[in-house]
Amino acid sequence: MNTISNPFPLLIAVQSNHYRGLIDVLGKEYYVDISLPSTSLSHNNNNNKISLDTIRFDCDREFKQLLSPFEKTLENRLVQCKNINQFLFELQDIIERLITNQKQQQTATLTNSNTESFLLPFNVFNTVISELEIIGWNRILKIDRNVSKFSILLLDEKKREFIAEFSINEKYPDIEPNVKCLLPKSTHTSNSQKESKSTTSNTTSTGNNGIVVAGGSKKMITIISTIEKLEAKIKEYQEFFDIVEEIDAKTWVLEPENPKRSDVTRRIALKDSCSLLIEINPKSPKTFPVNCQFLGPEQAIDPLRKLLNQRFKEWSFSKGLLENLEYLMNIKFPLKENTRLEEFSVECGVCYSHRLYSPETNTHSIPNVVCKNHRCQKQFHQSCLYEWLKALPNPHYSFNIVYGKCPYCTDPISVSTILPNK
Ligand SMILES: [Zn+2]
Ligand SMILES: [Zn+2]
Repeated sequence: MNTISNPFPLLIAVQSNHYRGLIDVLGKEYYVDISLPSTSLSHNNNNNKISLDTIRFDCDREFKQLLSPFEKTLENRLVQCKNINQFLFELQDIIERLITNQKQQQTATLTNSNTESFLLPFNVFNTVISELEIIGWNRILKIDRNVSKFSILLLDEKKREFIAEFSINEKYPDIEPNVKCLLPKSTHTSNSQKESKSTTSNTTSTGNNGIVVAGGSKKMITIISTIEKLEAKIKEYQEFFDIVEEIDAKTWVLEPENPKRSDVTRRIALKDSCSLLIEINPKSPKTFPVNCQFLGPEQAIDPLRKLLNQRFKEWSFSKGLLENLEYLMNIKFPLKENTRLEEFSVECGVCYSHRLYSPETNTHSIPNVVCKNHRCQKQFHQSCLYEWLKALPNPHYSFNIVYGKCPYCTDPISVSTILPNK
């Protein structure tokens, strides 16, 4: 009896040609009973080889199912075996292949995505997997079956979350990965106009088919290097994120309704149906806002506008943005802690609601046109007023503006026909 040549520690030799016990596959044990009738070797005249019809291989149903893709291989190997121990080693080899297969399947089923994807060539697949391993699976939020599309979580020093959505070309890394990550985009400097074209910014701006020529050597743009670039950008914008976070936490932001990391504007509620829209330069967020627009009854906003214009030179870098604005306009922003949002919800004079949903932009807008008659001062959604004026007999158009009469006081009123696209 040769018990040394058994690769399965839980498989016991009952007799020299009979093994019974358990086989471990990926931490799960399966019952197996393998025997070869002692007479079969002498009866077999095919060079002492055993064959399928002489070996008895009993196992539980689950194990049989596991082995089923390798049935043919098992048969072929069996023919080559001279004794039962050889067969056990062949079985071990097949189980190892089975384990490798299962592990690959587990990696692939990390996905729950139904998005369309394509099969990456095997070497690309492997490159991507090994890069993702380095990045860390705990940072992969979503991955499709073929690893051609996945999302990676990025955290800044204050644990703010950012998501980078990757899609990988089949020629990766010769073709750089495509990445979308919502980062702030300033609209006022020509340098960043490329970034502002879409809500997503492709941060890899090599324009050189993914190959950066640096110091004479070609450097591939990989998933890892793209992540590093994004992290560097996020780091650059730390001051901006701090400032907008303060605004969002303390004041009533009327627009955007749910600010994204990429949003550089905030419409902050002021008293008396007024609000102030500011656009912050994400690259230098402590400076005077690149754009300030008041909305509300003219007699309420006019003094504030004048103060801001007269005193903008008193803007101080040592003060916070809100503090600066309060100081210059000599006001206090209504705070979340002691006011209610409803106090600042202005009703549209046409549709009677505060927020109006626009399916084209998938956003809710608030009334943003005000009647200039001091006794009226009704506010309207731009699209509501446009529809109203358009429906009147003989609407008067000039360039992109439609002129008509206020639905309330019949004073002249006008509205742009171009709706802001967000
Ligand atoms: Zn309306
Ligand atoms: Zn009016």
